[in-house]
Amino acid sequence: MLTKTRDLRTGRSVWQDKRPPRFPRHEITGDTQADVVVIGAGISGAMQADALSTADFDVLVVDRRGPVRGSTPASTALLQYEIDQPLTKLTRQIGEDAAIRAWRRSRLALDSLAARIQELSIARVARRDSLYLAGDVLDADALAREHEARRHAGLETALLNADMLKERFGIERPAALLGYDNLEADPVMLAAGFLRAALARGARLAWPVEIVDLDTKPRSVSLRTREGHRIRCRHLVFATGYELPFGMLPRGHKVLSTWALATVPQTRRLWPECCFIWEASDPYLYLRSTRDGRVICGGEDEDFVDEDKRDALVERKTAAIRRKLGELLPQLSTEVDYAWTGTFGTSETGLPTLGPMPDLRNCWAVMGFGGNGITYSRIGAEIVRAGLLGKADPDAEIYAFRS
Ligand SMILES: Cc1cc2nc3c(=O)[nH]c(=O)nc-3n(C[C@H](O)[C@H](O)[C@H](O)COP(=O)(O)OP(=O)(O)OC[C@H]3O[C@@H](n4cnc5c(N)ncnc54)[C@H](O)[C@@H]3O)c2cc1C
Repeated sequence: MLTKTRDLRTGRSVWQDKRPPRFPRHEITGDTQADVVVIGAGISGAMQADALSTADFDVLVVDRRGPVRGSTPASTALLQYEIDQPLTKLTRQIGEDAAIRAWRRSRLALDSLAARIQELSIARVARRDSLYLAGDVLDADALAREHEARRHAGLETALLNADMLKERFGIERPAALLGYDNLEADPVMLAAGFLRAALARGARLAWPVEIVDLDTKPRSVSLRTREGHRIRCRHLVFATGYELPFGMLPRGHKVLSTWALATVPQTRRLWPECCFIWEASDPYLYLRSTRDGRVICGGEDEDFVDEDKRDALVERKTAAIRRKLGELLPQLSTEVDYAWTGTFGTSETGLPTLGPMPDLRNCWAVMGFGGNGITYSRIGAEIVRAGLLGKADPDAEIYAFRS
């Protein structure tokens, strides 16, 4: 076994009511080769395949489940440049220069992602502002310092006091930061769109294909599938989400459990501007709306991965999320149409691990841990593409593997 197998999600997410996307399947019937093999056909693997196929690499994507059947369909898909770790806190952890670069890189990545989606016309996305409410991680004073730090970094943000917040959004909290121009998407459509774009450029997608072993050579990697076929490639990319390669959990990273729900459609009751809302708290509640007027709300994270224990808590966690949602926005209906739970990841700094793997020549990893997993998938695609083209990414060091 090369990567851990997990029960990644349980319950039905709001994205799973549509017919699952279909793709032409590449059959692996014997030994084969490619310039790059990407393990994992979720949103991370899809973005890799798109980025690498535009650089004329011959890409083979493999997945043991099938395309977009890992944790991607569980995502609530608030695509934000604001990362989980406030800039003021990240500055204390990694220094001001690196912290500002990390925040700016997320902003850039989100804008590049939006541009790429538009260029390929692969999915309908909406631009959304985001409200970050004072909580137990940052109170109103700390939020004011965060505001200054972000503006100093060139990231325009508005500081709202209690009166402004009440008047504009009907929310009763001591303060909030308003960030601009995030992205609201359907993660399944997004991943499917990137995969299709790559396939149209000649990439291949094979499933169910499980990679169970690998052997690295100076200029190549040799892989073995569960069926015993060999795949030889120049480069290997692990885009395996929370199913990490054994023994490869980077320092400070943790795998845990999270819960989410989607309400009944209620377009008329939604809050003004339908911005993303999240709290400067730990754990935090977060919410967004959907095109058909539902509210998606999640949080209640717990520091364990036992899937039976996680699944047994669905009812209790759903009730807790409903209660908090009703307290925050009393005009909403909290009647639930979808409730689900999934494996999730965090890191001490809120930053992911993206780049070459230590001791595994020609192998790269995209471990997009944290609530910004999809923004990080994009940064991962950019870093890996630059690396395989022999170019230096200016921020690679910030995301480098630390074991
Ligand atoms: C409830 C929830 C809410 C979230 N909300 C947000 C959010 O609002 N915003 C955000 O940006 N992120 C969010 N995330 C995080 C985001 O969804 C993840 O970062 C993202 O889905 C991970 O995608 P992936 O492609 O890396 O992994 P996956 O979708 O899990 O794909 C990995 C694939 O690798 C395959 N694989 C693993 N090992 C092997 C092997 N040995 N051989 C072959 N195939 C293999 C698996 O079968 C799987 O299909 C959320 C996550 C959850 C669970």
